[in-house]
Amino acid sequence: MAMIRIGDLRIDRVEELCGAFVGPDEFLDGIPRAVLARDPAWLARHGMDMASGNLVTSIHSWIVRTRHHNILIDTCYGNHKDRGEGHLGTNLQTDWLDRLAVQGLRPEDIHFVMCTHLHADHVGWNTRLIDGRWVPTFPNARYIFARKEYEHWHPEMGAATFFGEGPAFIDSVLPCVEAGLAAIVEDGYTVDDQLTVEAAPGHTPGTCVIRAHSQGKGGLFVGDCMHSPLQVACPDVNSLACEDPAQARATRRRLLGDCAEHGHLLLPAHFPPPFAGHVKAAGDAFEYFPLG
Ligand SMILES: [Zn+2]
Repeated sequence: MAMIRIGDLRIDRVEELCGAFVGPDEFLDGIPRAVLARDPAWLARHGMDMASGNLVTSIHSWIVRTRHHNILIDTCYGNHKDRGEGHLGTNLQTDWLDRLAVQGLRPEDIHFVMCTHLHADHVGWNTRLIDGRWVPTFPNARYIFARKEYEHWHPEMGAATFFGEGPAFIDSVLPCVEAGLAAIVEDGYTVDDQLTVEAAPGHTPGTCVIRAHSQGKGGLFVGDCMHSPLQVACPDVNSLACEDPAQARATRRRLLGDCAEHGHLLLPAHFPPPFAGHVKAAGDAFEYFPLG
């Protein structure tokens, strides 16, 4: 994938995993049969692996370079984390840091880490295991956490009942707070006048999107407000990981409508190659146009 530009912002991507891990029915809540029966070319364009019948899913971080700062959006599962037996994110040992280096960035070069929400596959590389301790990976970064999401997962504040207590919060969020590197921010927090944190609840109560804007161009880093291009065509279909189904649907429709109306680039956290695209309104739903 070539580098993406939004005005004077440079956008790159660092992949952790990409594969046809799950079937549509294992992950998308009530995807219509008629959609899964569409022609193979359409399904392939929407991330269906025709050989296995599974959805191609990527787990990646986005990098945004403004004129002044290097910003990492979402940090995948990370290495050596224990997420339970058989979990995709358990005890990974990928060369994600080397892939970051391929983009010309050392951990010290990251100025901001922004997490759309605090699920395990969005906070993992916030920390790494050094001498048996979880240490912030990016020593010069400010880690940006949205207050509502932070409090939802905090064992002394929140009611993170959906997935139970959050081991990811303990090993991948709290160490950054304890190291004095975190900023707990409100809706509207902005980096360099170009990246704004906006509430987008539903997938989790405090999920945010990051709105990029530069020179009249825009992009929306929508995290897990949608996981599959099939949800562009079927915006009322949630993932089974969405905490509040009605709110997740409303947020997804609002974000897709925003992209369609203003021509903003859609940059989700898990879409298959080419990982981002544009959206047009199509009747009561939307059509997805992957980046060429
Ligand atoms: Zn995710």
